Amino acid sequence: MAAAPYVVIGGGQAGLQICDSLRRLGYDGPLVLLAAESSPPYQRPPLSKKFLAGDLEAERLYFRPSSWFEKNAVELRLECTVTAIDRAARRVSCADGSVVDYARLALATGARIRPLACPGADLADICYVRSLADSEALRARLPGAARLAVVGGGFIGLEVAAIARTLGKSVVLYEGLDRLMARAVSPTISDYYAALHRGHGVDLRLGCGIAAIERTRHGLLVRDANGGEVEVDIVVAGIGVVPNDEIAAAAGLECRGGIVVDAQARTSDADIVAAGDCTWHYNGFLAREIRLESVQNAVDQAKVAAASLLGAGEPYVQVPWFWSDQYDVKLQMAGIGMPHDNSALRGTTASGSFSLFYFRDGRLVGADSVNRPADHMACRRLLAQGTMVTAAQVADSEVDLMQIARG
Ligand SMILES: Cc1cc2nc3c(=O)[nH]c(=O)nc-3n(C[C@H](O)[C@H](O)[C@H](O)COP(=O)(O)OP(=O)(O)OC[C@H]3O[C@@H](n4cnc5c(N)ncnc54)[C@H](O)[C@@H]3O)c2cc1C
Repeated sequence: MAAAPYVVIGGGQAGLQICDSLRRLGYDGPLVLLAAESSPPYQRPPLSKKFLAGDLEAERLYFRPSSWFEKNAVELRLECTVTAIDRAARRVSCADGSVVDYARLALATGARIRPLACPGADLADICYVRSLADSEALRARLPGAARLAVVGGGFIGLEVAAIARTLGKSVVLYEGLDRLMARAVSPTISDYYAALHRGHGVDLRLGCGIAAIERTRHGLLVRDANGGEVEVDIVVAGIGVVPNDEIAAAAGLECRGGIVVDAQARTSDADIVAAGDCTWHYNGFLAREIRLESVQNAVDQAKVAAASLLGAGEPYVQVPWFWSDQYDVKLQMAGIGMPHDNSALRGTTASGSFSLFYFRDGRLVGADSVNRPADHMACRRLLAQGTMVTAAQVADSEVDLMQIARG
């Protein structure tokens, strides 16, 4: 009888990386990638950036050409949604009725959008941006739309707002909290981005959730919680995601707002690993549990997960990093700066090129860099090495941070 394959569920960044790493690490047995979507694994970040703007075509989003899957003997099954995991039988069941036995299993099921919950949220033409299909649908509607409402002042909502303004649409952006990207950045960065978007003509409504959406003869009427109303052509919501951990939980794996994994990306079943947006994990660098939604986490955790599948468990100890492109401004984040008890500005906000370094108990914990990539790279290195720097040092632009990092 043929040996059962290693099976990876989820054809996103993490799932593809697990397959890639398994082959690089020398696993030469059968390997199956079960992917719910109809497209081969692709990058999501451009979906709210260049792809949405029409500056990039879908083929450019794919991580690998189809020949890669053949060459590496990765059996990619598209439109194959796993509905159940039978751990006793070591078998997964798919929505199309097929079953696949596994020798070892990797979960890379990612996350899905959190839908709006207000009256009118079920109107068919409210847009979200998670999948290629979502972004294609929004992109196709933009030429026929002049007025957008964006719900959510996080990264994705702001990126969509920036693209829409660049394309000349009017944009109203609603954020229920009193500042932008509040979960991830400090008030200084939030304020900078609020001014940036207002400067580009976004009607930014902070501390203003939406109460209802109604269809009108000419579009959609957005009623906000403060009593305002605006008619638009398109509503785009970016209010966060929910981890896809249901099949793991139903199979009895420990889940806590994500599939719980240890520093080696192992779930509570020794034969099952998990990586990416779907995991609630111990991050060795942060020395705490967290759920991260980033390319860095998906890639680095997937590498650890692949090694664990092969029994070589290097722990996951990586500095988290992230980026966001809005207009011609690149925000790069290193570490986890929130919460912090001290911060130091390098450069000036007025120049549009600055970094805010964050400290906790006298130690550097992160930095947000705006159009200042060298600071970002230096910060990542300082954090990875645990090099001590002071707030006075980082605030002094004459001090070469990379030099300090190099030691
Ligand atoms: C619009 C957008 C912009 C972003 N921008 C950035 C950015 O600038 N920088 C950054 O670092 N990160 C960004 N991210 C986040 C980053 O893309 C994600 O963190 C990363 O894609 C996570 O990869 P993943 O493989 O864990 O999950 P996903 O990419 O969500 O992939 C999971 C896959 O598993 C499939 N799946 C789920 N359940 C099943 C099942 N039961 N059976 C089969 N398949 C299943 C899903 O359909 C999906 O294709 C962005 C995300 C989006 C949506």
